[in-house]
Amino acid sequence: MAGRSSLARFALHGLLATFSSPLKIRLCFRLDDPHACSDHSLETAIFALFAKYDVPLCAAVIPFYRIAGSESLVGACRDNMPHVAEGLRAGRIELAQHGCLHLRATTSGEQRSEFAGVDEAMQTKRTIEGRRQLEAGFSTVVNGFVPPWNSYDETTTRVLGKARFRFISAGIKAPKYPRNAKPISGPIAVPLTCNLKSLESAIEQALRFRRASPAVVCVLHPDEFEEFRDPPALGEQLPFMNLQGLERKLAWFRSIPEVSTCSIGDLAEEALAGGSLMHVTDAWWYCRVPQRFRQRLPHSILFRSGPSSLLPGVIGLSDPSSDATPRRA
Ligand SMILES: [Zn+2]
Repeated sequence: MAGRSSLARFALHGLLATFSSPLKIRLCFRLDDPHACSDHSLETAIFALFAKYDVPLCAAVIPFYRIAGSESLVGACRDNMPHVAEGLRAGRIELAQHGCLHLRATTSGEQRSEFAGVDEAMQTKRTIEGRRQLEAGFSTVVNGFVPPWNSYDETTTRVLGKARFRFISAGIKAPKYPRNAKPISGPIAVPLTCNLKSLESAIEQALRFRRASPAVVCVLHPDEFEEFRDPPALGEQLPFMNLQGLERKLAWFRSIPEVSTCSIGDLAEEALAGGSLMHVTDAWWYCRVPQRFRQRLPHSILFRSGPSSLLPGVIGLSDPSSDATPRRA
């Protein structure tokens, strides 16, 4: 966690940002769960809307899909996901790795996970095999990782750091690090801050705090759409969105001059180049704020004017022993 001196730096950065920043709010989108056998016609329609409004989209693709009742795996590639290949070719989408098989390996309480609680050797195997499939399947370089159920642990960060991933995009809740643990080299965290349901309130919050150059990261899933191929199973959430509603939202924020869109990779690179991405829960004073006031703090945005990155104990990719240059195709 940041110390008191960093609060002073945070205030200074905020002050400087007040006078020097172009006051742009960064907005990023992440579509989770496309795979070789997912609903490609809906995904194609979503891609087309993002392209129509010139908004980058991070497609978090599951590398392997296991056909029900069979042991055979289908790897995601340009032949079975031509819409993803076309989006990449046109520069409309960025590709991130969404786990390996989206398998439920562990469950701690309510939290399902393919990575948290799994030993380092297995996490490494899943990470490397998944990335190899996506990179070979789409002839591209994958620099971003999205853990299924937004769940990961300290080991995942270490594994991704060794594999030279540039960013991890999950939930706000970062793994707990021992207080005096040696910082490790890892990717920058670009956590989601809202979904399509809460997008408007997140942007309104960002507008209220625009002096801190905030960023909003919105996640969407195909099964949130009424047009989704498969009806919800018993106990699953009902769809709350449709393509028309998505288009209305895209047109709405496109009309706000302070909002600019970018890919998650670009946001990560800005932070790695000396910027910052800080969530309010990462501030040292957060836990000292009484609960009733805490709820009023801005939880739907990331601050780009503070000095520290989001993950406590992680030093980005600045470790001199690691190769900090991005991997290229
Ligand atoms: Zn998922």
